[in-house]
Amino acid sequence: MTTTTKSRVITPAHRTRDIKYAVRDIVVLAEEAKKAGKDMMYLNIGDPNIFDFITPDHIVEAAHEAMRTNRNSYSPSSGIPEAIDAVNREAERKGIKSICHTYITSGCSEGIELALTALVNPGENVLTPSPGYPLYTAVIAKLEAENRPYYLDEGNAWQPDIEDIASKIDGKTRAIVLINPNNPTGSVCSAETLQAIIDLAIEHNLVVISDEIYDKLTFDGRPASTSTASLSAGAKVITFNGLSKSYLVPGFRVGWGVISGPPDELEEYCEGIRKMERARVCANHPLQYAIKPALEGTQEHLPDMIERLQCRRDITVDRLNAIDGISCVKCAGAFYAFPKIELGIPDTEFVTRLIRETGVVVVPGSGFGQRPGTNHFRVVFLPPEETLVKAFNAIASIAKDYR
Ligand code: PLP
Repeated sequence: MTTTTKSRVITPAHRTRDIKYAVRDIVVLAEEAKKAGKDMMYLNIGDPNIFDFITPDHIVEAAHEAMRTNRNSYSPSSGIPEAIDAVNREAERKGIKSICHTYITSGCSEGIELALTALVNPGENVLTPSPGYPLYTAVIAKLEAENRPYYLDEGNAWQPDIEDIASKIDGKTRAIVLINPNNPTGSVCSAETLQAIIDLAIEHNLVVISDEIYDKLTFDGRPASTSTASLSAGAKVITFNGLSKSYLVPGFRVGWGVISGPPDELEEYCEGIRKMERARVCANHPLQYAIKPALEGTQEHLPDMIERLQCRRDITVDRLNAIDGISCVKCAGAFYAFPKIELGIPDTEFVTRLIRETGVVVVPGSGFGQRPGTNHFRVVFLPPEETLVKAFNAIASIAKDYR
């Protein structure tokens, strides 16, 4: 009887075993704390619109107008020409030359998934930053390929460790992922670091997957971060970006990939990506009409957004560094900080206690990768100042308890 019941259980594929997404996985714990009556403060999700950041009107109007005028059919699989042209002009403004193919996707998440799926065979490996955004490890696990983390150096403003990258490349390496500005550390790569990565990629004929979704959100008067592809027309780079962060529409699910480099060496790969695009039909059609107005219309929401984020970054870094047993590298961009916990306890224990006892939700560093023996957590500094101050007081009280 027991055997029959067991045999009828639908088991998921083995490839789901290693798929984790700590940012949302932590919500289960948060829901338990909420049910137990805690007042919750969510510093775990990088979604500006759940706080006091509002989509610019002209972007909403463009999407509304597209729907009202019945642009509700399927679109071409790579995207509508108007959006592709706007993305290409933006790429050229950023100095990207030799564009071979541009495709519009359901968030840049889908673009990244298509690009990796068209590139990597089971058993091959991809170098990803540690700490880094967990989408990459999830997609690589799904492809039954090997995720090979390379470290970002906390002592050097979280810059990628070039020697570590070089030491991890072998005959089965297909790509180096770069997240710049980085999630979860908020670090911005220097041009020298980018150049060193490009040199390695050219030497070993690797694709550079350059995730630049936070490029416009940089602090302290820095210009937008440098686009990796702008540094060399000879490198094979896919630059990912989208409307989710800088244009305040994460729920639109609009993103894109721009493939650049020597056209004759990339054509076969581009065709692989085009096949994947056709197989999933197209991205959301009407919302693609938001791309041109977003990239080429008024940008006046950006200075205000950056000013508010910078102020919240300052509170975050100052308050965290004032806590004994916690230290935080000053973030140069995005809206994340990745403080180190030096209290002799694992990050998961610290975060679990924090959520259960104070209702403050952050994500353990292990969800993003960290050097063995170190412990961190990721905090999102999108909430308004008063929420941040309360959250950091709660973090200080838990840290004090451990001391
Ligand atoms: N890449 C990074 C580094 C991110 O932090 C995120 C979202 O948090 C994404 C990609 C996903 O972006 P999209 O909303 O365009 O799918």
